[in-house]
Amino acid sequence: MDFLPIFLNLRSRRAVVIGGGTVAARKVDLLLAAGAQVQVVSPELGNELQDLHVRARIVYIARRFEPADLTDAVAAIAATDDRQTNAAVSAAARARGIPVNVVDDPELSTFILPAIVDRSPVIVAVGTSGNAPVLARHVRAKIEGLLPPQLGRLAALAGRWRARVKSGLKTLRERRRFWEDVFEGPVATHALAGRTEQAEFELRRALKRAQSGKTVTAAPDPQAAGERTDNARRSIGEVYLIGAGPGDPDLLTLKAARLLQQADVVLYDRLVSPAVLDRARRDAERIYVGKEPGNHSTTQEQIQQLMVKLALQGKRVCRLKGGDPFVFGRGGEELQALAAHNIPWTVVPGITAALGAAASAGIPLTHRDHAQSVTFVTGHQRSDGEPIDWRELARPGHTTVFYMGLSQLPNIVAQLTASGAPLTRPAAVIERATFADQRVVEGTLGTLAQQVETAGVRSPSLLIVGDVVALRATLHAIAGADQVKYA
Ligand code: SAH
Repeated sequence: MDFLPIFLNLRSRRAVVIGGGTVAARKVDLLLAAGAQVQVVSPELGNELQDLHVRARIVYIARRFEPADLTDAVAAIAATDDRQTNAAVSAAARARGIPVNVVDDPELSTFILPAIVDRSPVIVAVGTSGNAPVLARHVRAKIEGLLPPQLGRLAALAGRWRARVKSGLKTLRERRRFWEDVFEGPVATHALAGRTEQAEFELRRALKRAQSGKTVTAAPDPQAAGERTDNARRSIGEVYLIGAGPGDPDLLTLKAARLLQQADVVLYDRLVSPAVLDRARRDAERIYVGKEPGNHSTTQEQIQQLMVKLALQGKRVCRLKGGDPFVFGRGGEELQALAAHNIPWTVVPGITAALGAAASAGIPLTHRDHAQSVTFVTGHQRSDGEPIDWRELARPGHTTVFYMGLSQLPNIVAQLTASGAPLTRPAAVIERATFADQRVVEGTLGTLAQQVETAGVRSPSLLIVGDVVALRATLHAIAGADQVKYA
């Protein structure tokens, strides 16, 4: 290790920056963020520093650097483009035992500034010992994606309770266990979702529980309690209801990817692609709860019961659904089941099939000239449900996306045309949208059913109807047709 990373307390301490340009301004921003009293030495100031000077955020000394500028300073940064000045700053700082950084010059520096992920009070510093600052930024970007934006709130909450927990729980072991539970359980879920009050409430409860020596607090469920395993010693688990997107794992949200890494068990649907499932923690239990069309192998009721049971065992359950959980996904019903058992949950939206298919097939769902509105509708209607307003869907200037409509295609075409849509209205079926083997069958209401039959299109497929479908050909002509796979 060439450098020891340390966190320096600069609050109300004097830090000196030599240089007045934009590079110096970036360093000044950083020092100000850390609460330092910043003094800038430079014959001239650029706009940004000038602005800070006018607002009295910095002390400005308008001349060239002199060693005496470092008196009482706790850190110095040289950010001039004159190596001689930088060297003079470095020498003066070293002589006084003051840590010094010379921008882009590890030789002259006694400390270097890391790339920072700031979730204050949580701070992650990334360095490459001066070898590859750009690489450090890459690493930082990766970590940015891994850490929840509200992580700081969780840390701040822990900070507020630290003393109370310390006096409430006597042994180090008890305290460590307590905090582990806090950071993995409902307290963290609430805090990370910005629900500070609920987080406080859960934390208070957890502390009481820990003090009384009990670990089980879930709604009494003797069966679940009996099955509790040691790795699920958390009193009550939680459920992440996650949208897995249409197939391509790159379309997962950062939050989905992060929670997938946390879950102890994953309940996944038929539509969840194997590549997405691969993003789950390696040792997470994976349970298939898919419903085959026409053959409901696992009923909705059974899925809900299983989810509740696992959560009551203290597990972090990921309920992974294709597309978005709230778009024809029965996510609402699953949440109701959780609510009935007081199980905390987080919903993570996913890219719904219509959006994935539109993007990968090159069909803009709306367009200033061709469609001002879009409807997502299911081809599978409940017999006791509200009837579809076909006239509305048949309107010109409207795009309709049918989910689960493949087997209903002839019926859909008949209804639309009977309600005023011309047989020439463009329409397309997209099979396995966003997967590597995606197929697009494009035609019109008059031709599509036959084309789909000939091509042997299978589920999962979406039907898109509207003038926007015809734009695909123009867009592809521009993009170069050889990149496009036609069915
Ligand atoms: N919650 C899901 C939809 C579930 S309904 C979402 O938001 O996407 C199931 C229907 O979604 C399928 O019958 C099919 O019409 C559509 N679908 C899901 N994934 C698809 C894909 N990759 N390509 C085409 N259609 C898809």
